Amino acid sequence: MENQKIGTKCVQAGYQPGNGEPREIPIIQSTTFKYDTSEDMGKLFDLEASGYFYTRLQNPTNDYVAAKITALEGGAAGMLTSSGQAANFFALFNICETGSHIVASSSIYGGTFNLLAVTMKKMGIETTFVSPDCTKEELESAFRDNTRAVFGETIANPALTVLDIEKFASAAHAHGVPLIVDNTFPTPVHCRPIEWGADIVTHSTTKYMDGHGVAVGGALVDSGKFDWTKHAEKFPGLTTPDDSYHGIVYTEKFGQAGAFITKCTSQLMRDLGCIQSPQNAFYLNLGLESLHVRMKRHAENGLAVAAFLEQQPQVKHVSFPGLPGDPYHALAQKYMPDGTCGVVSFEVEGGRKAAETFMGRLKLAAIETHVADARTCCLNPATSTHRQMTDEQLAAAGIPAGLIRISCGLEDKEDLIADLAQAL
Ligand SMILES: *Cc1c(COP(=O)(O)O)cnc(C)c1O
Repeated sequence: MENQKIGTKCVQAGYQPGNGEPREIPIIQSTTFKYDTSEDMGKLFDLEASGYFYTRLQNPTNDYVAAKITALEGGAAGMLTSSGQAANFFALFNICETGSHIVASSSIYGGTFNLLAVTMKKMGIETTFVSPDCTKEELESAFRDNTRAVFGETIANPALTVLDIEKFASAAHAHGVPLIVDNTFPTPVHCRPIEWGADIVTHSTTKYMDGHGVAVGGALVDSGKFDWTKHAEKFPGLTTPDDSYHGIVYTEKFGQAGAFITKCTSQLMRDLGCIQSPQNAFYLNLGLESLHVRMKRHAENGLAVAAFLEQQPQVKHVSFPGLPGDPYHALAQKYMPDGTCGVVSFEVEGGRKAAETFMGRLKLAAIETHVADARTCCLNPATSTHRQMTDEQLAAAGIPAGLIRISCGLEDKEDLIADLAQAL
């Protein structure tokens, strides 16, 4: 059944039980797998046969769920990680090493900003940040000979800027490197970056994909479209022998569609071990089964709340790419015609203090370091998720100190608006 629609894939893709097998994805709660001969096992260690031997690298439950997310994104191969942070790190570190350089949108999640600007910098991997709204020339000038990847978020958390995927993809490809897009906020229900030229897609599945606030997790999907061998000198890890596997060359052995994820699993997962637990993968799948139904409601609630806030005199400004007056509305219409997400950012008059008072009065919207689950929640980024950033960095990322991010859940929009109205 080719060309299934997105909702059908949410419910059914990834796991097809055989005769008499469990209808629901089984949780393979086992760290190890048994083999009859050492030779059988040896083939797995040599990557000569595919199969499971240790859950630090791979587990069948995870693979069923990764296959569903891969189908949703229209990719060739995918894998789960223990968190969204791990997914972004793996996506980048799979093709970068000491001396490499990354071009990234400055409008990204605070955790990813720290990963790039602090931790990966310590590893000798430098990042040049560019505004998502930069001109083609500005984007062009950020590249260096050692640039190995371009990175951005479809809808940035929390700035809610929309990435012009085609602009970033064409610049990346002109320089022989892939575009990696973190597609956490719209999810593949509302945007499939691979269709617009992205090569690798990442997710914090902790957000809408799980959708119930129960399981931290991440995912990576490779489109299989990037020709690593065409730029072989840039990606020696994929195109030259891996001594830790008797000299196999990933692009030769696993082809364009398999090289990236196979290397990521057999090398990075082996050595760094950021695997998602099979139990969490099971919860994630429950979330995925209703993702298409929930995203519609989240986006509707987000739009209703944004439209209400825009009319309030106490509100200085509202960001929501689904709102017709928003600077990113045109890009949102292009890349996400069916809707965006349920996260709305707005600035109340009176800065940090007023934001605090307002948030304290809310009854339905809880104060949480989280977004994108069934219950509405809110946060002041400057005093929480982004507190490591200087005022200049905050400004560059489009996050004023008095900004409130509200994540509209699945409640009735009339009740959410009434709660906001009483607090204002
Ligand atoms: C939350 C988030 C992350 C990090 O994911 P974790 O699952 O919390 O590690 C990365 N990118 C975006 C866009 C996020 O919202």
